[in-house]
Amino acid sequence: RPVTTDMKTLTEEIEKFAEGKKIEIDTLKIREEYRKDFLGNVSHELKTPLFTVQGYILTLLDGAMKDKKLREKYLQRASKGVERLIYIVKDLDLITKLEVGGLKLERTDFNIIELIQNIFDLLEMKAAQKEITLTFDMEYENPIYVNADREKIQQVISNLLVNSIKYGSPNGTTEVSVENLIKNKVIVRVTDNGEGIPKQHIPRLFERFYRVDQSGSRSEGGSGLGLAIVKHIIEAHGEKIYVESEEGVGSEFSFTLEKRRTNLPEQH
Ligand code: ADP
Repeated sequence: RPVTTDMKTLTEEIEKFAEGKKIEIDTLKIREEYRKDFLGNVSHELKTPLFTVQGYILTLLDGAMKDKKLREKYLQRASKGVERLIYIVKDLDLITKLEVGGLKLERTDFNIIELIQNIFDLLEMKAAQKEITLTFDMEYENPIYVNADREKIQQVISNLLVNSIKYGSPNGTTEVSVENLIKNKVIVRVTDNGEGIPKQHIPRLFERFYRVDQSGSRSEGGSGLGLAIVKHIIEAHGEKIYVESEEGVGSEFSFTLEKRRTNLPEQH
């Protein structure tokens, strides 16, 4: 049976196959629309860094290679462009897995306070480069154990912190806090005093590839997928994510997590 590559034929085939099954065909159509839209976005995202890298390579081939200083400069820039492509492809890979539900959560009990401290250590340099201070509410010297996928929650907190650094004001501060809630839950808050988000953009913030300022985000090396990934991970845990923001004042992203079930033995 020949493989169908033509989209129109494919849609017709699907329709024939699903004759009478109204609900199923609607789902298929939505999926098809979604796929087309996704592919369009992906090629658009990859185009800019690819052309940039190609530009540096062509300049090198065009003679810049003979000059040691220029050679280094352009190779460094080409390398940065490739780094960016890798970053985008990694995010794309993750979002695809999250959206098709192919990513299983590996829940364990872990100390969220320790995890946040580790992430701070990893991001300290990046924050310092933008003159942003990362602070942690030190009232929480005692461990707080949650039940979640540690690696994925690390990704969530990192994405939120990286954003607060990217969109923060120089000499700004980002504070992380963890608070106990009723019903065996905790809430993690990431608060910055950066540029904030205009009201009209807030409802769409967690859509993939959605950005408030296209050029600003791209020059900061964003893939436009950070918050979509965050939302998927939190919802896969059965939890909620919230955002409050005011333009020129700052933003607060917060999410809930389940505490460790108390009948389990103490872990250190
Ligand atoms: P990216 O940062 O790669 O563009 P994200 O999905 O992480 O993609 O964020 C989407 C958009 O939300 C960003 O482009 C930015 O406009 C806005 N945004 C996210 N976090 C913040 C923040 N802490 N302060 C201000 N704007 C933010």
